[in-house]
Order: sequence, then C-alpha cells, then structure tokens
Amino acid sequence: MISGDVNVGKDGKLIEIENLSKIYKTGDFEVHALRGISLNVKKGEFVAIMGASGSGKSTFMNILGCLDKPTKGRYILDGIEVGGLNRDQLAEIRNKKIGFVFQGFNLLSRTSALENVELPLFYCSISQKERKEKALEALKIVGLADRVNHHPNQLSGGQQQRVAIARALVNNPSIILADEPTGNLDSRTSVEVMEIFQKLNEEGKTIVLVTHEPDIASFTKRHILFRDGKIKSDSLNNDIKIASEVIKYLPKIDEEGE
Ligand code: ADP
Ligand code: MG
Repeated sequence: MISGDVNVGKDGKLIEIENLSKIYKTGDFEVHALRGISLNVKKGEFVAIMGASGSGKSTFMNILGCLDKPTKGRYILDGIEVGGLNRDQLAEIRNKKIGFVFQGFNLLSRTSALENVELPLFYCSISQKERKEKALEALKIVGLADRVNHHPNQLSGGQQQRVAIARALVNNPSIILADEPTGNLDSRTSVEVMEIFQKLNEEGKTIVLVTHEPDIASFTKRHILFRDGKIKSDSLNNDIKIASEVIKYLPKIDEEGE
C-alpha cells in the first residue's frame, strides 16, 4: 500500500526529476516532446509552468501525474521511484497522492457537484457517510456549499472549475496538478480560481500549474519556462500578486441565470 501522507525527506523535496525525456512515436515519425528536464519541487511550493503551445507542458504534467511514462529519466514522487511501479501501483499513487484539475473541468454531466467530488473516494475503503462528509467539506473549501446538488450544466464555468478543484482536493493529495485551469474562464473568474489555489497553497498544499498567461503566473511563487521541451528559465517570482486583492479592482460579472 502506498501511503497518502506526505513523507518528504530532510531536504523537503516532494518531486525530484532527473533528465526526463519523452519521445512520441507515431509510425515512422518521432516527436521529441521533452528533451532532458531536471528539477525539484519542495513541499509547499506553488509553481507555474509556462511556455508556448507545443513546448511540452502537458506532456510534462501527464508524467508528473503518473498518467504517462517518460521515455528516459528518473521521477521520484514523495520518496517513491515512479519508474519502478506497475500499472496498479501507478493507479494507486495517482489516487492517493495527486489531485488533477484540467482546463475542460472534466466533470460528469449527469451527476451532481457532490457526487462528482465523491468520485475519487470510491477507491478508498470508507463508508458512504464519511465519503459524503469529505466531499461536502471539499465543496465548502471552494465556496460551493450552497450548490452541492447542482449538476454541471446548472453551474457557471467558474463554479464548475471549483467543483473540479474540490474533487482534486477530496483525497487530501500531496500535490495538486492543474493544466491550464483558467484556460476556459473569463479574467475575473480566472482570478477567483487563482484565489482558491493561493488559499490552498497558504494552507500547505503543493501546487504545480500550467499556464501560458503571465497574469495567471503572477499569482504563483515560482516560474518555470519551457521551450522546445527544455527548461529555458526557472526563477522565483519576486512580485507575487494577491488574487483576493486583485479581484477588488475587477468589474463584477452578474452570475445570475448562468
Ligand atoms: P503544450 O502542452 O506545451 O502545448 P504538449 O506537451 O501538448 O505541449 O506537446 C508537446 C509536443 O508533443 C507537441 O509537438 C505535440 O504535438 C506533441 N505531442 C503531444 N502529445 C502527443 C501524442 N500523444 N502523440 C504524439 N505527439 C504528441
Ligand atoms: Mg498543453
């Protein structure tokens, strides 16, 4: 069994990546999506992965999330050598240690917000009552306690993304991975979503988020720029914007009727 607890070493590294590469082969054609990525992420970091379309951001996130395997290189997540795991173990590590948030929300449409958030808990051996409690708690954290019985089509885009964040949180993962989580949202709603990520990070969650928008990256603590499958730069953000402050100066959008 893989424990869901965070058990980082003395140096606090949650993610250690060494010389990672990924080659996609389609017929005779090869795409070098990642060309030797090395980096560490410590517990409590809030990292933005940036770079042009096609620079390898999603490929990298899929490997971080144990959804795909690298062609070469090492990946150690929370002390576990991911390369040595079989399919079942990978599924287990995904479920226990990683919370995913995607651009397209990926919610089940005929299912309530509450049931969507409960989904990851079906793989855990907990009672139905406990499952519901945990899901309600996660929905409360993202400010949707009053929408638990709504279906996705009864929620605005921002609310749907908050349901997806609650679903990512419900297992108390070591790390949250978000690939362009604000890509489908207007600017105010994007900042609202970033406010939630900032709050979670303040409470100790480690977050790695992909965005190609500098405005969105400005809310994170560290910027890693990808170019052509390599790291072009990796630096701390010395001017972190506070989403809850920025929101005050953005025009309100009437959500009624959405
Ligand atoms: P980004 O998220 O930065 O836009 P991706 O990681 O999606 O970049 O893609 C990096 C490169 O790998 C691109 O050239 C893309 O076309 C290619 N690629 C991504 N996924 C696949 C795949 N499943 N099969 C073949 N090529 C892929
Ligand atoms: Mg992408």
